[in-house]
Amino acid sequence: MEKKKKKENKQKKKTKKMKNRSRSRRLRMRKKSFDPEAKITPMQDLVRQWKAKPLHGRYRSRIEDNAIDTKASQGWLQSGNLFLETEGFIASIQDQVVPTKLYRKRIMHENVDDIRCRICGEKDEHIDHIVAGCSPLAPKQYLERHNDVAKILYQALAKKHLGETGTQPYYKYTPPPVIETETSRLYWNRKIITDRPIPNNIPDIVLTLKEERTTFIIDIAVPLPTNIQTTHAEKINKYLPLSDEIKRMWEMGNVSIIPVIIGATGEIPRKLHKSLEKLQLHPKIYLQLQKAALLGTCRTVRRVLGDENRIR
Ligand SMILES: [Zn+2]
Repeated sequence: MEKKKKKENKQKKKTKKMKNRSRSRRLRMRKKSFDPEAKITPMQDLVRQWKAKPLHGRYRSRIEDNAIDTKASQGWLQSGNLFLETEGFIASIQDQVVPTKLYRKRIMHENVDDIRCRICGEKDEHIDHIVAGCSPLAPKQYLERHNDVAKILYQALAKKHLGETGTQPYYKYTPPPVIETETSRLYWNRKIITDRPIPNNIPDIVLTLKEERTTFIIDIAVPLPTNIQTTHAEKINKYLPLSDEIKRMWEMGNVSIIPVIIGATGEIPRKLHKSLEKLQLHPKIYLQLQKAALLGTCRTVRRVLGDENRIR
């Protein structure tokens, strides 16, 4: 009996010792990270310098938000299938060094009388405003960008779950409103007829897997990086009544609301990976969605500011 107790005590001491050891290791590490003499790699040094610049650092801190997958958000740079000139333009939008009226007045100290947006004339012409906040741009420019992302998703779902073959470039693709097989059904931007009035009844995409008695209500958004989290929550709340109604009417075992959110300047929320996994899509498809969102943003900024207005 006593032997057993001794053994237990010994074990306890050992665990305590290990805990202390790892604590002091953590403290040493922390001390090291504050030590200005500590060695850092050239890349870490570049990132540190970049963050320190008031304007350029802003983007880095935006994508270092906990909700954002920092590595995936820079995926478009690694996949390397954009023109160099477009890459540069995207970087300048992310770093907010695009000659909007506000930038020209505040940063370039140019003589700009009116800093209000040249399109709506209401808000200040900040790059964020042009990228995703100017209401006259919503019905055409923002919708076009949103639909580009949605079309990629729709084609991928049709291929995966409905046996469709061949892929068209999204900008040439017109999604059919319904694709149906014996086992699955896909709706594009279609009003769901319900027994009782439901306010939000036109999700971007609805996928039903008949054998699994499962329906996915999929809604896409391309907001500013600062609005990613609230947009995700808004989408869920928006479609809750419809999801209940579909479950009851179509006798589904499970109805899931799947927000697909891509930041307008390419940010990938961590939650996106889970959404794509639930839809059984290839995990790397986010790179295609990201590219479409980025090109849509470039197109919008170019159209508003004009090509000649760019800082490279
Ligand atoms: Zn505006």
